[in-house]
Amino acid sequence: MLIGAHESVAGGFHLAYAAAKDDGCDAIQVFTKNASQWKEPKLEADAIARFREARAASAIGAADVLSHDSYLINLCAKDDALRERSRESLLQEALRSEALGLQHVVLHPGAHVGTGIEAGVSRAIENLAWVLERTRGAKVSLLVENTAAQGTVIGSRFPEIGAILRGVEELVGDEAQRRLGVCIDTCHAFAAGYDLSHEAGFDAAWAELEEHIGTTRIRGLHLNDSQKGLGCKVDRHERVGEGALGKYPFWRLQNDARLAGVTAVLETPPKEDDRGYLAQLKMLRGFVGAAAPEAKALQAAPEVALAVQKEKPKRAAKSKS
Ligand SMILES: [Zn+2]
Ligand SMILES: [Zn+2]
Repeated sequence: MLIGAHESVAGGFHLAYAAAKDDGCDAIQVFTKNASQWKEPKLEADAIARFREARAASAIGAADVLSHDSYLINLCAKDDALRERSRESLLQEALRSEALGLQHVVLHPGAHVGTGIEAGVSRAIENLAWVLERTRGAKVSLLVENTAAQGTVIGSRFPEIGAILRGVEELVGDEAQRRLGVCIDTCHAFAAGYDLSHEAGFDAAWAELEEHIGTTRIRGLHLNDSQKGLGCKVDRHERVGEGALGKYPFWRLQNDARLAGVTAVLETPPKEDDRGYLAQLKMLRGFVGAAAPEAKALQAAPEVALAVQKEKPKRAAKSKS
């Protein structure tokens, strides 16, 4: 696994490599535009040349680079205009990434906004196929990221992502086999209810992932701890080992031979002006071949915890009688 971080390209794409060096990265993820705006900037030839130059001169230039799509994109929006705008924006993201020579575009599959998961999944399938069709023959691939189950987003459960992959394959065949994969975000999986924080939970989650997606489709990983607890359905990243996930899942991933070729990046929040990447990457590298760190105690999703709490007095009363 090549581990690194999401790096800023403020001031120019080429600056990502200088930041990556400071942070001890072996891999990077970047935005190719302002992710909170619809505006699609045109890439200048000079910016592309400078990025390619910096990459060629970098010790990590051979590593795959991830881009992340705009937060505004909703591939399964109910509104036709928003859906068309979304797929066009994803297409432009793929074209910019291809021009820069980036290997993968990480994308969120979208939110069904009340129309149901099935309808959302079929819209996502249609639009991902649309983008792959229009970029046929390109090198850049599209990676569907698992989501934190916030609001009406789809893709928080592995079977939904599996259904998206199979659906797109039916429409565009080989092109999807070659250029469609997944990016697994540890924080999102935990927020969606997969308890990666200890061995049994990790094994169960990974078995489900293997069944519906397949480890071979993982081309990207987002290594984030979670500020909030299991099944919280909110997307709040925390530094590795400092959140509710703890160190265990990251130790597991670092020692999984099946993920050897995968590009993994931190997307953790800076504290004041410290990105905090250097220390986290050092810790992660220390996990390779090391004994397992102590796992968190078994955690339960909020609804499960509530049910248990409600049951307790009943049981106490029974045992008294
Ligand atoms: Zn994301
Ligand atoms: Zn992520």
